[in-house]
Amino acid sequence: MTVLVNTAEGLYCPAAKAWIDPHRPVQRALITHAHADHARPGCDEYWSTSASEGILRQRLGQTINLCTLNYGEQQSIGDAQVSFHSAGHVLGSAQIRLEVKGEVWVVTGDYKRCSDPSCAPFESVPCDVLITEATFALPIYRWSDGATLARNIQDWWQGDRSRPSLLFCYAFGKAQRILAELAAIGVDEEVLLHGAVETVTRHYRDAAIPMVPSRPVSDIPRKESLAGRLVLAPPSAHRSSWMRRFPSPQTAFASGWMAVRGARRRKGYERGFVLSDHADWQGLIRTVKDSRAKQVYVTHGQNDVLARYLMEVEGIQAAPLAALG
Ligand SMILES: [Zn+2]
Ligand SMILES: [Zn+2]
Repeated sequence: MTVLVNTAEGLYCPAAKAWIDPHRPVQRALITHAHADHARPGCDEYWSTSASEGILRQRLGQTINLCTLNYGEQQSIGDAQVSFHSAGHVLGSAQIRLEVKGEVWVVTGDYKRCSDPSCAPFESVPCDVLITEATFALPIYRWSDGATLARNIQDWWQGDRSRPSLLFCYAFGKAQRILAELAAIGVDEEVLLHGAVETVTRHYRDAAIPMVPSRPVSDIPRKESLAGRLVLAPPSAHRSSWMRRFPSPQTAFASGWMAVRGARRRKGYERGFVLSDHADWQGLIRTVKDSRAKQVYVTHGQNDVLARYLMEVEGIQAAPLAALG
């Protein structure tokens, strides 16, 4: 049975009359998480996890028609049983499980397997068909744990207190993970936030995620020196006029792409920290095996590499998502 099909708007479940993370406005959208490439405006009806609600409304509008479910809660939508299961990617992120006439399909959305103190851990969901992302599906991608990373960031920051330390990272997910990883290794010094980071961080505070104390940069009096302070900002602020507030800063970028030699230099950062909210190569393969899926479809990034590896090495039926009718 085909539980999901490819359409111009994205993955569609005929039994639920619903699209998953549709690219265009549709009547009913099931949203894996509130990142902009997954949650787009203009749909008549949205479904998401309860933990996504605050950020989703902030991004798509307070008045969107949104129904929420807790992780694991079963809901009938049309002829499908729908539930959301933690993806370990960002606050509220979910895999979507669809069951139609006893057949179970799972769409992972974005996910990761390593522990992250800023969101719920990934949950393995057994299924017949798994649709997995493949953003970092090459064996060169292998992440170290968050504590090691937090200690590296702390050493870099504390290593030069004569100037501000500007750490660029995505405003939703990455920044809050850094605040939480720093807290987890015992840092309690206040970190300053760019406005775009601050607005998202508030939702994490509302969810009682333990993080180091933080304050918007804009709350610091102009005449006060920012030497020795750690500041988190989105990549869009790099080399913008916002940087004038920080005389001769040391700069760094935290991203999974920092694992690629040369990426840091190309973007003009002094230092790169490899930090990803996606699964690494081992994490992707482990997830496919844990799901015990008979058929796997792969989407985003290196989908052909992962599909071929699963077929040839693991003997699992796999194909890029485009192969799904
Ligand atoms: Zn995402
Ligand atoms: Zn994504």
